[in-house]
Amino acid sequence: MLLMTLVLAAGPMNTKPIEDELLKKFGEAQRARVERGVRQTAALWRKEDGDLAAFARDNFLTEQKELDDTFARFEANFEQLDGHLLEIGRELQKATALDVGPLLKVDPYFAEYDPGAHLTEDLFRNKLGFVVLLNFPLTTLEQRLAAKDWSRQQWAEARLAGRFARRVPAEVQQAITTASAGASLYIDAYNVWMHHVLAEKGERLFPSGMRLISHWNLRDELKAQYADKDGLARQRIIIKVMERIVTQTIPAAVIDNPTVDWNPFTNTVVAAAEGTIEADAPKKPAAPSTKPEPDVRYKKLQANWAAQKKADPYSPTAPTAIDRAFSLGAEMPEARVKELLEAVLASPLVPKIAAEIEKKVGRKLEPADLWFNGFLPRGSIAEKDLDAKVRAKYPNAQAFAKDIPRILQGLGFPADRAKYLSERILVDPSRGAGHALQAARRGDFPHLRTRVEKDGMNYKGYNIAVHELGHNVEQVFSLYDVDHTLLAGVPNTAFTEAIAFVFQAKDLELLGVGKPDAEAERLRVLNDFWMTWEIASVALVDIEVWHWMYDHPKATPAQLRDATVEISKKIWNKYCAPVLGGKDTPLLGIYSHMISYPMYLFNYPLGHLIAFQIEEQVKKTGKIGPEIERMSKLGAVTPDAWMVHASGEPVSAGPLLRATEAALKK
Ligand SMILES: [Zn+2]
Repeated sequence: MLLMTLVLAAGPMNTKPIEDELLKKFGEAQRARVERGVRQTAALWRKEDGDLAAFARDNFLTEQKELDDTFARFEANFEQLDGHLLEIGRELQKATALDVGPLLKVDPYFAEYDPGAHLTEDLFRNKLGFVVLLNFPLTTLEQRLAAKDWSRQQWAEARLAGRFARRVPAEVQQAITTASAGASLYIDAYNVWMHHVLAEKGERLFPSGMRLISHWNLRDELKAQYADKDGLARQRIIIKVMERIVTQTIPAAVIDNPTVDWNPFTNTVVAAAEGTIEADAPKKPAAPSTKPEPDVRYKKLQANWAAQKKADPYSPTAPTAIDRAFSLGAEMPEARVKELLEAVLASPLVPKIAAEIEKKVGRKLEPADLWFNGFLPRGSIAEKDLDAKVRAKYPNAQAFAKDIPRILQGLGFPADRAKYLSERILVDPSRGAGHALQAARRGDFPHLRTRVEKDGMNYKGYNIAVHELGHNVEQVFSLYDVDHTLLAGVPNTAFTEAIAFVFQAKDLELLGVGKPDAEAERLRVLNDFWMTWEIASVALVDIEVWHWMYDHPKATPAQLRDATVEISKKIWNKYCAPVLGGKDTPLLGIYSHMISYPMYLFNYPLGHLIAFQIEEQVKKTGKIGPEIERMSKLGAVTPDAWMVHASGEPVSAGPLLRATEAALKK
């Protein structure tokens, strides 16, 4: 049995009389469990929940058999509850997700409805959540990380209690949702009309009608310019636009407004000439003013923080949004995540890759080359030939479903396991590009959603379907073959993505058109390293800005803006400037995620590291199938425990760095 070393928020309630009563009834031997259970329960108990003493008296369990049976009942019933709720949601979304005929007006409403949205609060209200907290241990991340000798049941108990680690009041949850929706809305409407953004000397370099959303479209357009020999001038404009967005010196009048021309270098604004204004321009007054927005970007970010902060008192094991992102979300300590990011950022391989990029672009590198994408291998087989081949093979979704056992055997699964898996993966024709939908109860099956055009599947659709199949295989093993359904799944999404990428990389081979050549493989590795390096730097900015907000609770949005600019510059100067120049650019503050989806960015570089680690392990044995089966059956333990089981060492930057080093040598 785990002993609780947590100090729970004392709260207004004095729990001592209840503890004394239970000790008198059950004896000194139960002291640790009594103190832990009563305090865990009291921390989240509200006045309207009634008489805590009576509840504790009636529900505190001491007999091991009764505890075990109660645990088993929770496990079995939660599998049913979660599994059926998931199925209801899946059925209600069927019309919008699947290619099954015209949409009705009501369909989006059904798709938005989440039957499990209030489940945790319901379970607290009817006391099931409190039965768990009274009898099973809540754990801190430190305890889970130190849990080398935990039994599988102890892991499952930690997951059971973990479901009830937080009880955020509805009004606080609503405030979080409102702040987050407000930030998303701000970002979603943040467009720049590029025809009206001028180069340094006033030239118009972008075509009419080009409307780019910050920052994704701006970044993608910057990447696309590598294919144009005159692209650099356009990239420099985009960089200047991004810098002005971060510093909030962009004139308010130019946001989503093609009726003014803007020179981001001189920051001057003039009315656009009549003939240059796009017909589909949103109706806006063409006031050519350089007045900036009143720090709205940072107001939105601060509002997100303020709302998250309101949830702090209701999460005793992870009392800040930063703690929750690392302890409950990633389940890795912040210091370790930063160490992994820095291992990539400060790697001595960076200048060597930069030298390769310099050779490719034929000039000294600039800040825009943070997003260099010229490593991407060009396929040796024309896409239209691949399309024809895929179309002939898979005229409809069912043809792909029928071929799954062969595909799986091609990935090294023995025939019986291939059959077992294919019987548990259902294939649907989707409206979207493709998706793997898990199941949460045995008896229900994961679904593979794949897009098939009228004349059959194309290569892009097939490539995605093989990726999704990787998710589905993980989903089958981590539900049907895991020993405790409370441990179903993987530690976090990076793990299932990594497995999906291992499958996806084999798509050509499985199609019977040979392997990617060694040069393509080498370039893929260099490209992945550069993407990891880029996003690792941005992730550090995100984390540091959140610390700053917690350290300066009374700051104004303008102060938050200045702090973000300073943090962005500092991280740029430390890691990026040595190879890309541009000392003191605030560029790293540009990610929209920082504003609308904060404290998530670090998951992306971690995902790349995990993918390389799984890939390296699979390569060691050469058998994808059996290795993925062995890894997936462990279920949702912590990332490090999962990776030690999978590869012999905790999550590490080693495999990415080794693969990159080897690629540079070739
Ligand atoms: Zn995926």
